Amino acid sequence: RAKRSGRNRHSFFTADLEARSARTLALENALHRALERQQFELHYQPQVSLHTRQIVGAEALLRWRHPELGMVSPAEFIPVAENSGMIVAIGEWVLRTAARDAKHWLDQQLPLRTVSVNLSAIQFRHPQLPDMVSRCLHEANLCASHLELELTEGAAVDDPDAALTVMQQLHERGARLSMDDFGTGYSSLNQLKRFPLGKLKIDQSFVRDVSVDASDRAIISAIIRMAQAMDMTTTAEGVETEEQLAFLLEQGCDEGQGYLFSRPVPALAFEALLRAKNA
Ligand code: C2E
Ligand code: MG
Ligand code: MG
Ligand code: MG
Repeated sequence: RAKRSGRNRHSFFTADLEARSARTLALENALHRALERQQFELHYQPQVSLHTRQIVGAEALLRWRHPELGMVSPAEFIPVAENSGMIVAIGEWVLRTAARDAKHWLDQQLPLRTVSVNLSAIQFRHPQLPDMVSRCLHEANLCASHLELELTEGAAVDDPDAALTVMQQLHERGARLSMDDFGTGYSSLNQLKRFPLGKLKIDQSFVRDVSVDASDRAIISAIIRMAQAMDMTTTAEGVETEEQLAFLLEQGCDEGQGYLFSRPVPALAFEALLRAKNA
């Protein structure tokens, strides 16, 4: 009996693995064509000042609309794009498109400080990254101070000195740098204090249970105080309730993103939000 269930478990496991790798393979193949077939689009999520609830910026979030697979989540296809190296070309498209959209909004005098773009650790290690960023800004005729680049702690873990050099190059070119999903990675505070970061983004996992979990409250409070001491601002991710907002305000958090304010929306819808909310 034990043997039998063991074999069943084994074949179940193998079938599961095969199904998963078949999906990964299908995604990888489809991803190769996605850029040329124009299947990507950017959605934008407002970043708001917690005090005024005014929109101050937007985070560009990549969406892939595949004719058969439907909307594929970035959580699923970004790792595939990273493993195949395609993230470099896709990331360039994201940056070029976000820079163009930002320029379009600023030209209409819409009150927008920054557009934020996520950078994968793979892109971050790519030697041409600073030049690619400069090229995209130049093409869009966008001033670098309107661009914010979101890194994750993973970008700096392997080789903090190399990461520092790249950050300095991006910083010298005028782009703003922020640390995404802060608190979930393994960056050392010793390294963190050397990095030219303007902002820490408090990961949504800490924000989620803030009304019931005292440890999460303590962590958020500590992150905000540390950021203040290091002259950085803070943005809370995943703000969904008024209760969370009240706690974040009380702790001195500067900005927030989340469903309480708005979900990520297509570029045109974001433009409409910007017009309506900041009128
Ligand atoms: P992220 O950069 O931390 O982005 C925040 C994620 O939280 C987004 O998921 C957003 O839709 C979601 N979110 C925002 N507000 C709320 C909320 O109130 N509640 C909850 N539960 N979720 C909220 P999304 O768009 O699925 O993106 C997932 C991740 O994929 C991003 O996490 C980022 O790491 C990555 N990603 C997205 N676009 C790009 C891109 O252009 N390049 C790279 N390298 N990564 C990207
Ligand atoms: Mg992000
Ligand atoms: Mg995040
Ligand atoms: Mg995240």
